[in-house]
Amino acid sequence: MRIPFVAGNWKMNTTVTEAETLVYTMLDQLDNIAGIEIVLCPPFVSLLAINMMLKDFPIKLGAQNMHFELKGAHTGEISPLMLSELCEFVILGHSERRWYFGETDEIVGKKVKAAATNKLKPIFCVGERLEENETGKTKEVISRQITTALADIESVPGLVIAYEPVWAIGTGKAASSEQAADTIGFIRSIVKKIWGKDIAQNLRILYGGSVTSDNIAEFVSQQEIDGALVGGASLKAEEFLGIVKQSAVIKGKSI
Ligand code: PEP
Repeated sequence: MRIPFVAGNWKMNTTVTEAETLVYTMLDQLDNIAGIEIVLCPPFVSLLAINMMLKDFPIKLGAQNMHFELKGAHTGEISPLMLSELCEFVILGHSERRWYFGETDEIVGKKVKAAATNKLKPIFCVGERLEENETGKTKEVISRQITTALADIESVPGLVIAYEPVWAIGTGKAASSEQAADTIGFIRSIVKKIWGKDIAQNLRILYGGSVTSDNIAEFVSQQEIDGALVGGASLKAEEFLGIVKQSAVIKGKSI
């Protein structure tokens, strides 16, 4: 049984004060949610404050990016060593990093390895662009992204993969749950080829792209889909907790 997983990617939103207020509102409305892993990924500058706020709560923390080197002359970058004191997870290979900041499959692969050797659990994002989807290249692209990043590592403890079609991110046009489940099944088959059946079967694979409290039920009703990586909708406490609660209930967990 895979534990359902919902993560919120706040992107470049919230000052430290706004981040604290958002977390405070979430904690106030949290109720008794159990059996689901919840992760918040605020901007780097808020990690310390939120880490302290979450100490006694069942919500975990993640960063949105990371350099693959441990330290040195990389002005403005944040290293795995710095993050591992503050958070458990790190989003790697998000399409906004790939397409706006030139992160190649090779760079993302180095980051996944650096996370794995520094006790950070990657939320590793893969997904095709619109033209790749429309020309039938989705599986080819995803296969390349996964194989380049994972093929020469033995395993990545705690790894979570997020299938995020680029055309669905921030557009309000989510993939259909059938299409997402089909692609996620394909992702599991690629991981099985690389690491074998046991790891593939236990791996959490999320859907991400315009998830809201109105459409989450369709996604998590699919047996293949273990939860969601949520962008815009994670910036509203009630909306995000609505996504978390529905995911827990539909996956048979208690609230
Ligand atoms: C994301 O940034 O990972 C994402 C899925 O964004 P949104 O939910 O806003 O589409």
